[in-house]
Amino acid sequence: MTTLEDCRALDAQDPLRSLRDQFTLPPGVIYLDGNSLGVLPKAAPARIAEVVAEEWGQGLIRSWNTASWFDLPQRLGDKVARLIGAAPGEVVCTDSTSVNLYKVLFAALSQQKDSGRKLVVSERSNFPTDLYIAESLCRERGFTLKLIDADELQGPGSVLTDEVAVLMLTHVNYRTGAMHDMKAITAAAHAAGALTVWDLAHSAGAVPVALNESNADYAIGCGYKYLNGGPGAPAFVWVHTRHAGKFEQPLSGWWGHAAPFEFTPHYRPAPGVGRYLCGTQPIIALAGLECGLDTVLAAEAFDGGKGGLAALRAKSLALTDLFITLVEERCAGQGLSLVTPREHARRGSQVCLSRSEGAYAIVQALIARGVIGDYRAGDSQMPDILRFGFTPLYLGFEDVWNSVEHLVQVLEAGEWQREEFNRKNAVT
Ligand SMILES: *Cc1c(COP(=O)(O)O)cnc(C)c1O
Repeated sequence: MTTLEDCRALDAQDPLRSLRDQFTLPPGVIYLDGNSLGVLPKAAPARIAEVVAEEWGQGLIRSWNTASWFDLPQRLGDKVARLIGAAPGEVVCTDSTSVNLYKVLFAALSQQKDSGRKLVVSERSNFPTDLYIAESLCRERGFTLKLIDADELQGPGSVLTDEVAVLMLTHVNYRTGAMHDMKAITAAAHAAGALTVWDLAHSAGAVPVALNESNADYAIGCGYKYLNGGPGAPAFVWVHTRHAGKFEQPLSGWWGHAAPFEFTPHYRPAPGVGRYLCGTQPIIALAGLECGLDTVLAAEAFDGGKGGLAALRAKSLALTDLFITLVEERCAGQGLSLVTPREHARRGSQVCLSRSEGAYAIVQALIARGVIGDYRAGDSQMPDILRFGFTPLYLGFEDVWNSVEHLVQVLEAGEWQREEFNRKNAVT
């Protein structure tokens, strides 16, 4: 049996433990929801105040040049690139994940429009906004969205046929935490003649991503989850350089123009990923995102000079392994099942448990105790889910122990059955 002392010993040996000092966490809270909204970086309030009071208040319009507002999407894009296996100049930070998905999927479909291929393939269990965006684009552009289960991607009966134009997947599933093999799936899609669009919402800043090494085509991701950019922070978008200069941007606003300040009457797209900008950028929000990105990039210092997220990933796996072990040791017989894959290569940075009854109320009871995870509704294939995100930047092993201790208490005393925990809020 694992003990509290074991967990404390792991914290004492943890090379990343000082990274927690970068954040403001409310006292008494164990935050297991960084996969939904990251924690406030300590640097963010002062930096945002400076942008407001100095750069906006004093610099006024001059700040587009003097405070480097104009190239902020590219500058932050270069920081994101380090986290997702991309090169400088290949990423911009802009718009929301949903909007960026519209742009990249449109571009991929345009590239395939003369191929005779009519299918966009995605997973039934993908995040709904991805499916909603794909639905309307397919309708608009004369394609059909085909929804599959992950096991239909491989093997002899694979859905990857010569009818598939685009394979659109989320790298780490938002509910189950299951992670795809990006390189193998991209190779299979390419072998079938399809382009790939990867959503990195639950990957960027959480697991190592190797976009160029995987030879992917398009990718997008979220700024406010593991990147700690703040609520509604700008998202990011990447395109492989082989498509640069060729791909079509449907939202052809002036910020994606090759020379916006020439004010010419006709659109001429910027050469690379810069064309994925549309209109004037949210500078204050981008400033918050930069603070978040810097908290993740601080982990690079612990990778023995190699750069990258290896140390962060190792801790993330150790945290999720520990959580799984403790739940199995201490909550046996309580009706919880593990949904997230045990296999490291297939696991993101979260653990999902399912329960046929009370999942929502158990999460509410935990939140009342300061253990913040979240609930996601099940479907025909899966019961309701309790979802726990583990952000190695600010979580320790004792936090894992304490969160399971609370879970044990909520379950054993039937605390979750109280009426107050069974009323649904608007945002779950
Ligand atoms: C969180 C998330 C989004 C969020 O999209 P927004 O446009 O920021 O609301 C999109 N896709 C996936 C897979 C997500 O997990």
